[in-house]
Amino acid sequence: MTYIPEALRRLVAERAGDRCEYCQMHEDDTFFTHEVDHIYAEKHDGPTVEWNLCLACAECNRNKGSDICSLDPETGNVVALFHPRRDRWADHFLRVDTGVIEPLTAHGRVTARLLRMNRLDLVADRARLIALRPYPGEES
Ligand SMILES: [Zn+2]
Repeated sequence: MTYIPEALRRLVAERAGDRCEYCQMHEDDTFFTHEVDHIYAEKHDGPTVEWNLCLACAECNRNKGSDICSLDPETGNVVALFHPRRDRWADHFLRVDTGVIEPLTAHGRVTARLLRMNRLDLVADRARLIALRPYPGEES
């Protein structure tokens, strides 16, 4: 694992508004500190540069690992994961009031499944946070 300079780490966190760029959970709402994820992992020759880094919560980062694609549960096709630098979150996911993150596209489906975004405890956490204030993914 490559050392990520503090200035680059800070840039990634600020750019993301301290939210996980996969599930949109704010760092203040998690027990563990968010991590800098290589969107294309180093083992795939993904470089440690701004465009290949994103902020990820510990859950999403652990479940994503070095993966860059997965099998679409609807079609069985190999589909690239949601790419936080290239893709817009709201084009691929919809956060519903129950706390579920509903995938809207094949990229959303493979990412939500692989990163286990709708694990029951995470959905319950989101539902509690939604009751407190606007949840991530909502621009205002
Ligand atoms: Zn996350």
